[in-house]
Amino acid sequence: MSREKKGAAAAADDPLATPVMRQYLELKRGLDDAILLFRMGDFYELFLEDAERAAPIMDVALTRRQSSIPMCGVPYHSVETYVQRLIAAGCKVAIAEQQPDPENPRLMQRRLQRVITAGTLVEEGLLASSANNYLMAFAVAGDNLGLALADVSTGDFFASAVACGQGPASDDTAPRSGEMLLATALRDWISQYAPREILSPSDRLQLRTLAAPEGRAIWQPMEPWKASPSEGLRQLETRYAVRARGLGFEDPASPALGALSLILHYVRTNFPGQTLFLQAPAFREGPGACLRLDEQTIRHLELTENQQDGGPQRTLFSTLDRCKTPVGKRALRAAILAPFRNIAEIQARANRVEQLLGNDGLRSALSAALDGVQDLERALARQAAGRGAPRDFVIARQAIVAAQSIAAATAGAGGGWLEVTASIATLAEDLQRIVVDSPPAVFGGGALVRDGVDAELDRARQAQQQGGQWILDFEERERKRSGLNALRVKYNRVYGYFIEISKGQAKDAPQDYTRKQTLTGYERFSNDELAEMEATLLGAEERIQLAEERIAGELSHRLLAESGALKQLMQALGETDLRLALAEVAARGDWQRPQCVASGAACLEIDDGRHPVVEEHLPRGDLFTPNSVRLLAAERSFAVLTGPNMAGKSTYIRQIALIQLLAQMGSYVPAQNCRLSLCDRIFTRIGAGDNLTRGESTFFVEMLETARILNQCSSQSLVIMDEVGRGTSTYDGMSIAWAIVERLSDPEGPLPLTLFATHYHELTALGEREKVINLTMDVQERDGRVLFLHRVREGAADRSYGIHVARLAGMPEAVLRRAEEKLIELERELDRSRQQEAEQHSSRRGRTRRAADGNQSSLFS
Ligand code: ATP
Repeated sequence: MSREKKGAAAAADDPLATPVMRQYLELKRGLDDAILLFRMGDFYELFLEDAERAAPIMDVALTRRQSSIPMCGVPYHSVETYVQRLIAAGCKVAIAEQQPDPENPRLMQRRLQRVITAGTLVEEGLLASSANNYLMAFAVAGDNLGLALADVSTGDFFASAVACGQGPASDDTAPRSGEMLLATALRDWISQYAPREILSPSDRLQLRTLAAPEGRAIWQPMEPWKASPSEGLRQLETRYAVRARGLGFEDPASPALGALSLILHYVRTNFPGQTLFLQAPAFREGPGACLRLDEQTIRHLELTENQQDGGPQRTLFSTLDRCKTPVGKRALRAAILAPFRNIAEIQARANRVEQLLGNDGLRSALSAALDGVQDLERALARQAAGRGAPRDFVIARQAIVAAQSIAAATAGAGGGWLEVTASIATLAEDLQRIVVDSPPAVFGGGALVRDGVDAELDRARQAQQQGGQWILDFEERERKRSGLNALRVKYNRVYGYFIEISKGQAKDAPQDYTRKQTLTGYERFSNDELAEMEATLLGAEERIQLAEERIAGELSHRLLAESGALKQLMQALGETDLRLALAEVAARGDWQRPQCVASGAACLEIDDGRHPVVEEHLPRGDLFTPNSVRLLAAERSFAVLTGPNMAGKSTYIRQIALIQLLAQMGSYVPAQNCRLSLCDRIFTRIGAGDNLTRGESTFFVEMLETARILNQCSSQSLVIMDEVGRGTSTYDGMSIAWAIVERLSDPEGPLPLTLFATHYHELTALGEREKVINLTMDVQERDGRVLFLHRVREGAADRSYGIHVARLAGMPEAVLRRAEEKLIELERELDRSRQQEAEQHSSRRGRTRRAADGNQSSLFS
């Protein structure tokens, strides 16, 4: 045998050498890290290692093709379920669609349609409607961190830069601390935007261990050259034909440009050959532009996730979420996580909320307009990604009509809420005129276009209808002619139209019938007349399909051409929804508009404030006890709050932070009166929690968080601290707490407004200091039992009530009695040693005339 012949025979034996497998292997070549779903007819098939890896994750059977190639498959119509399982397991999924080969329409070609990853989803079923699905990228230039965030499911795209340096490096620990500062800044962004996927220059992957060791996001390494600012500039100019300056990027060496370049590279690989629905990225001022909330504050204040199980229940978000639309819910989340620092923005939103509160008619008109508005931002993203569905057109029409109603309703109330341009209004009219009220779920699944829109479509439909009637008449005629009463004319996709006769009667079929197919109980036939009509009918069907595809393509094109304006309209609609939600919450809870002070010394004055989330979830019949606070930088900037456990200290200090945050969102607040200055940051140190996955013990975490507050707070910050120093021995902890109070209340220091809750009632001695006041939780003691009043008053707690609280918790009586004895014993000893210390101290002072701080020495005796 010749060598060529031998080679051909080997290829014929090799199951990988078939045309389909060759196509598959070619596509798979560039997709090493993705699982390839290869469309074959009504299934997506997976082969080789992909099949072996994915079958258990998708929970489908693994089989063999030609008895040697591992394979599995999933039906095309339920592919989302399986993609979801793969994405949840951290896989990348590549989708290859089929289309007829232009040279030989009987053959199918496959083309990579897109790569689906957790951070680049557009499929509705895979996305949470109330949150953005961010893809994040970062780049580093010296001490500066560049960040970019994109949500390809809504088109949002922006970048920013943060300076992470801390002045000139002066010792040999500087490199590590520089890395720590970068990681801390990164961690804050990760907790603010909760990205699903993070693109990192491959030479910076080590930051992951410091920034997000236990995070949920998947980290993707990218070639470092793609993260250079010059590459970012090039990308901006080629992709968007804009100059970086026009988008706010003043510094051509900013790492923000490097970060956005990573996003654009990644997205282009994942959506090959498609026009993206991603706005040109705007440069956002660094974190200083809004009230800054770091990772621990977002977590401690339970803004969007609770601390019990990380769920959305019992959070500020859940309390405020009266939004009716997905875009409104996303606006609310963004408003909570990045409140304003600019008084004009605060007042603008609060003015609208006030307007709504004073106008019930406007409120109900807007509420009615927003009812049933669906997610147009995401529909646009699906259309752009080539994964659109017919109902996207209805979603667009409904959203535009809602926006028109809002514009009309608000015109009487001064206008300026949102504007529907003439071309968008025409688009809505055309959608209404062209698209049926309830289109099918998928293209080709039924009529999408109304009758009377397109002459060619109408003609084809008429031919189809007439043909349908002809078939009914033909069936009747053939029954009579043949005398076979059970004769039927039927249709299926494989065999087209046929005459079906039972096996028993088939021998009596008329002479002009030709056999098409034999089944167990039936024979199927055709004749010339039927074949001719079949050709007409199938031709009509094809013409209908082509006409509908053409019209859908034109509509999709128009939607995408307006996508920038539609996105803006949706953002205005989301903001309207958010204002309405804030007004509803304020109306129901009797919240008041705070007075925000833009300049002058820091102040925080709240009369009868309440914790919005605790109040909402109190057991039925229980009333929340309101409490006030008055902190003024000039005279009383620091409050030491003491009181027994369970008395409401944590609730009180958190409610103050939440009220500050709400006020800066432009919301009303749960208080009778409120006057406050604008904060640059809210810092929190609350509760103790191990972070074992980060290798940090409870006490270490506590000290890390505290160190950050001391190093970073300013005179414009609000600091709330709870139980600092608890994780170590009493005197150690108390000493640290003491020094912190001194530092944060030092008139020469940054002097932030601070609330400091502690169970060390010894710290009340610091109330003597300038700027420091004592607050305490009122309790009543009756028959040795303690009653919590949850009321804050000025003054100091005389002691802790640990044993009383232990009694409340059901501790055995014998243990409680023993604890009481021991307490008396310890207190006596302490008194004795204090007395001795005082005597020694005064005699020493007499001898050396050395000044000493009386309070402190007695405390640390
Ligand atoms: P610990 O020192 O043990 O952490 P604490 O003093 O910080 O206790 P909180 O956790 O704030 O106390 O409050 C305990 C419970 O008391 C809360 O879960 C809440 O149910 C209730 N509570 C707190 N403040 C109030 C209030 N002002 N009105 C009504 N109930 C309140």
